[in-house]
Amino acid sequence: MNRQILLKSRPIGMPTEDNFEITDAPEPKLTQDDGVILESRFISVDPYMRGRMSDAKSYVPPYQVGEPISGGIIAEVLESNDESLKAGDFVLGNLPWTERQTAKVDTLKKVDDSLAPLGYYLGILGMPGLTAYFGLLDIGRPEAGETVVISGASGAVGSVVGQIAKMKGCHVVGIAGSDEKIRYMIDELNFDEGINYHKTSDMQQSLDVVCPYGVDVYFDNVGGEISDAVLTFINNEARIVICGQISMYNATEQPVGPRPQTLLLKRSALMQGFIVRDYADRFDEGIKTLAKWLKEGKLTYRQTVTHGFENLPKAFLGLFKGENIGKYLVEL
Ligand code: NAP
Repeated sequence: MNRQILLKSRPIGMPTEDNFEITDAPEPKLTQDDGVILESRFISVDPYMRGRMSDAKSYVPPYQVGEPISGGIIAEVLESNDESLKAGDFVLGNLPWTERQTAKVDTLKKVDDSLAPLGYYLGILGMPGLTAYFGLLDIGRPEAGETVVISGASGAVGSVVGQIAKMKGCHVVGIAGSDEKIRYMIDELNFDEGINYHKTSDMQQSLDVVCPYGVDVYFDNVGGEISDAVLTFINNEARIVICGQISMYNATEQPVGPRPQTLLLKRSALMQGFIVRDYADRFDEGIKTLAKWLKEGKLTYRQTVTHGFENLPKAFLGLFKGENIGKYLVEL
């Protein structure tokens, strides 16, 4: 039996498992166009997928109701009629959530499981790692001695941002949602300080303690009230990197918060959003550097792995409950 997962309905507010449907899929057969049969091994769940479940205009087209969800997948080649890939090879692709499927060879990238654990190609050596690398170094431009604050700091992107900022000699503060995550950031990732936002009744007061010299770079993964509080600490010429706004992804109304323009003006600060694919022509540079730092032991990385194809919707929903430390993946 082959299975696929479809978008059954568009969520309003927080998605539920009812928005997904697991159905049978036909067994794949090689065609002239589709040169390989693949079996999914690791499937990535990512916050941006929430946006694609809605019908709103964005930088990626929405999923269609009745059609499979798609995203980053590491798959094993089962059969191939193309000489560049053979059975047993592993590939990375943007593919439908299906257990087995055919694919066009030129849409896939071969990955080597002897160089890094396969899941890393969906995390630190993939889209989230590149997001951290370019967002921090190109927009944040941290300098030794500066204070870098990261929200969503223990996840796939945030955990890499903080480690790179430490390599640059910065004072690094991570904000995340549990004591276990704070311990992970300080004990394993070498961050200087951590704030558990669920346990803090006064975010401004907590930030005042851990950012005595203000904030020079804010890497924003979450938005909302956490970011409102961080912004009040920005120094002159601070850089605010708008990477994600996960606290807003399920909002049914746009909340009105403080308007930051006056603050940005008074501090000559930069606030810039970006999408990782803005840097597509530099991906090779990013992957090469991240792989080198990993090999040299300058970066460490965690994954939270759930097992079973049928658990994909639950894992995806877990992103919004803070279930993961590091990259969240489903292994088949
Ligand atoms: P992740 O951090 O591994 O997982 C999501 C985490 O967000 C959860 O573990 C949870 O941790 C936190 N979270 C969930 N709901 C929250 C809320 N209401 N308030 C505060 N925190 C909340 O995910 P990721 O893949 O690394 O992505 C991080 C952010 O970067 C997301 O906003 C994503 O959309 C964005 N992103 C942007 C790009 C780009 O090209 N710009 C690329 C990749 C990712 P806690 O326990 O700490 O709450």
